[in-house]
Parts: sequence; C-alpha cells; structure tokens
Amino acid sequence: MNPIRLAIVGLGKIARDQHLPAIARTPGIALAAIASRNAALDGVAHFETLEALLAEAPEIEAVALCTPPQGRRAQAAQALAAGKHVLLEKPPGATVSEIAPLVAAAREAGLTLFATWHSRFAPAVEPARDFLAVHEPRAVEITWKEDVRVWHPGQDWIFEPGGLGVFDPGINALSILTRILPRPLFLTGATLAFPENRAAPIAAELDLTDANGLPIHAVFDFLQTGLQSWDIAIDSEGGRLLLSAGGARLTLDGAVLVDEREAEYAGIYRHFVDLIGRGACDVDLAPLGHVADAFMLGRRANAAPFSW
Ligand code: NAP
Repeated sequence: MNPIRLAIVGLGKIARDQHLPAIARTPGIALAAIASRNAALDGVAHFETLEALLAEAPEIEAVALCTPPQGRRAQAAQALAAGKHVLLEKPPGATVSEIAPLVAAAREAGLTLFATWHSRFAPAVEPARDFLAVHEPRAVEITWKEDVRVWHPGQDWIFEPGGLGVFDPGINALSILTRILPRPLFLTGATLAFPENRAAPIAAELDLTDANGLPIHAVFDFLQTGLQSWDIAIDSEGGRLLLSAGGARLTLDGAVLVDEREAEYAGIYRHFVDLIGRGACDVDLAPLGHVADAFMLGRRANAAPFSW
C-alpha cells in the first residue's frame, strides 16, 4: 500500500526537532508537503498557508498541525472539511469546548482526529500504569521545572491567552498522570503566578486528588536554571516509583526499570497510521480539563515582569 501523504503545518521547533525525524522513520506515512509562512524544505512541496495547500494539493491525505494552540481549532476544522485526517500537537486547542465539534466533524466524515499527548508515548509510562494497576498509589509529587528561555526561545505566543504559559510543559506531566493512575483525578486548589507584563502564568502549584483521597502535589516552574526536572514520584504499596526525564526513565526504589530516550514521536506516528487504518479517532481532553480547572479555581499571584 502507498504511504499516507502527510503535510506539516507550521515548521517551527517541534516540527523540526521531532516530527520530521519521526515521520522519516515511520512506515506507512511520508512527508509530501509543508505549509509554512517562513520556511521550506528541499524536495518537499511548499505552500505559504494551509488554505493554499488545501486548494492546490488535493493528493494530501493528512495534516500534522504543529502551530501554536490558539489558531489550531480553525486549522483543524478547515482540514477536516477538506477531507484530511488531522494530527493535533498538544495541547489540542486553546479551550476545552472547541474540540468537541472537531471530533463530531471527523466522525461524520469518517476521518481520523488524533489529539496527541507526546509524553504518553515516553517509554516509562505504560510500565508505570501496569505497576499502579496492581500496587495502590499513596502519594504523588510532580516536579516539572524548566527554563523557558532555553526550551522556547522567543515564543511569545506561549505567554499570550491560550498559550498556557508554564502549563505548556506542565500539561505533559498531567498527560502522564491521567494515563498512569488507576482512577480519574480532580483539582482541589492551585496558585498561578503571572508576570505583570504577560497573560499566562510562569509558575504554578497544584493540588489534586481522586475519589480515594490520593494526595497529588505538583510544582511547575518556567524559570528553572541549572538542573532541569521533569519528575513524577509516586509512593505506592509496592515501593517508590520515580518517572524522570519526562518519562524516559523509570526506577522502583532506586532500581532502574526503564531508561530509553527519544522514543515519543515515533510512537505518535505509528499510532496515527494505525488510527487512520482503522478509521478511528483518539481525543482525550482530561489533561486540558485539569489545566482549565487550575485557571478556574486557582489563586492568582503576581510575578516579576518577564522578558527574553
Ligand atoms: P514554534 O517554534 O513557535 O513553532 C510554531 C510554528 O507555527 C511557527 O514556526 C510558525 O511556523 C507557525 N505559526 C503559525 N501561526 C503562528 C503564530 N501566530 N505565532 C507563531 N507561530 C505561528 O513552537 P513549537 O515549540 O514548535 O510548538 C508548537 C506546538 O508544539 C505547541 O503547541 C507546543 O506546545 C507543542 N510542542 C512543543 C514542544 C517543544 O519542545 N518546543 C514539544 C512538544 C510539543 P511557520 O513560520 O512555518 O508558519
């Protein structure tokens, strides 16, 4: 069978760092076009906009939207209306409720809509889920601290409304947590620190729980210099589980169970090909819901003005 002809929309950091190499490694899908206002790739058809791509390249079967979240719903709606399968980078949108009409449109047209959570494809995630299915968790501590100047240099959209600020990385932790814990979670309190000159938080602290009262505490920081931390520590009846390096590494009471880098996006594209083959959608809004709850229930604190 011919590989699925895919276009990338938005050739920014994540498209270059992760999507291009993962697509190249995935059987069943091939990069056939780019829609980018600023960039092109040798040997790949180029269009300035998604509109031009949809009008002039009818052979394209699927699009990967690697643009900022604020404009993504409109792009997804356009692409679905043009009969394309759609892969959404995380977070799937700028609001929770804008996604349901996209799911309905995809189902109606028999197309695939895949709201990716790349951290769920980290190698420690499924083993941690399996472990926690049989060893009851007792307490969870999340430490997600990175330097926005290193990982998102000049990305002003991240501090605009809908850009999520520190929840842009923090939602990755929530996407793991909602996958590995045995019961649904809900937020009980939060503090969000907003720089005076920005519209999204630069730090946050969250408390969540589940129906059994599991204590979950999360600290997100976007101004971490030196050692960067993407850790989830879980005390359980079976010992202390530590997912670190964003889910690349897993230890149980210090013993290494998993240690494997750079596997996430290959898993994403394998899953996308499989979903298209089955005519299925995969859209889970739980991580976005918890972030929305933090904006709703969170106490607002002031932080120093931020500049790059
Ligand atoms: P980025 O470097 O700013 O790239 C986004 C691209 O989208 C831009 O290069 C631009 O591409 C296009 N674009 C269209 N409208 C835009 C607008 N109004 N403002 C800015 N860019 C616009 O961002 P990114 O880091 O790749 O992130 C994109 C998405 O991937 C975000 O949702 C982010 O959460 C997610 N993500 C990022 C990372 C990471 O480590 N950076 C990791 C995982 C997921 P053209 O110039 O080609 O049109």
